[in-house]
Amino acid sequence: MAIENKAPGKDVTDEDMASKFPLAAIKPDGKHTRFKVKGVEFGGPLIPIMAGPNTVENRDMILRTADAVKRAGAHFLRGGAFKPLSFPYRSEKYFELRDEGLRYLQDARDATGIAIITECMDQAKVAAVAEVADMIQIGTRNMQNYALITDIARTRKPAMLKRHYGSSLRDWLGAAEYLLVEGATDVLLCERGMSVPHTHRASSRFLLDLQVVPAAKEVSHLPVATDPSHATFWANWVEPMTLASIAAGADSIMLEVHPDPRNAAVDPLQPINFEDFARLVEKMKRVAEAVGRTVS
Ligand code: PEP
Ligand code: MN
Repeated sequence: MAIENKAPGKDVTDEDMASKFPLAAIKPDGKHTRFKVKGVEFGGPLIPIMAGPNTVENRDMILRTADAVKRAGAHFLRGGAFKPLSFPYRSEKYFELRDEGLRYLQDARDATGIAIITECMDQAKVAAVAEVADMIQIGTRNMQNYALITDIARTRKPAMLKRHYGSSLRDWLGAAEYLLVEGATDVLLCERGMSVPHTHRASSRFLLDLQVVPAAKEVSHLPVATDPSHATFWANWVEPMTLASIAAGADSIMLEVHPDPRNAAVDPLQPINFEDFARLVEKMKRVAEAVGRTVS
């Protein structure tokens, strides 16, 4: 979507594009980057779907989820082995499996062939995560952890850079530039909701910034995903915000899907179950078709 190559976003200037993030900035030809991960193309007509639980809770649930989301049409299994949990206390109900979780993701990959996206939060774990992940997730809280994202870029693995919930488009692209300048080529941006004063529900902390999808695509050639689950924090709103994301031009969608949402270890209000996910994928196909895209 070329806009004469130079349209400044609200806080993105021509000078930013020329000298602050020349690698992330859209080129004169207006072309958007396409790259393939395990045969799945990002940035083209396909809108790859990444689905799975917030947290890898145990081996059985991640294997079942991998199988269910793949059969429903997901291209990637998501799930955190390492989690940026907002509070430091862990319990039997609130935990992360860490290296054990990575092994279960590998088992899910081996059993189903589905591609894996999982978060890396720690420089010391980059190599271990890179071994299992087909795409490494950089979480909202680490968007500007330049030491971490530089190490992730050095793995040459595809990376998904979530936007910090308080970040401008300009700072988000600055962080993407840290990946690109280090030699990363396959970078996916992901909008996951902004922290704003009013979010329509007392329990929801974020508001999906749909406008940033066309805004980012105006000034950058990188594909842009959305994560309606983390943005809404409320399962009932995931479907409308997913379909709206596709209409807004999102190049990929990340969704939390759990075999038993109410009993999810983390964030039980936001995941949808297998049946609702399968139904949603059917609706996504219809909206994608209406905007000249596809989800399968
Ligand atoms: C996640 O995807 O599990 C996650 C923690 O997301 P975010 O970094 O957007 O909060
Ligand atoms: Mn989460």
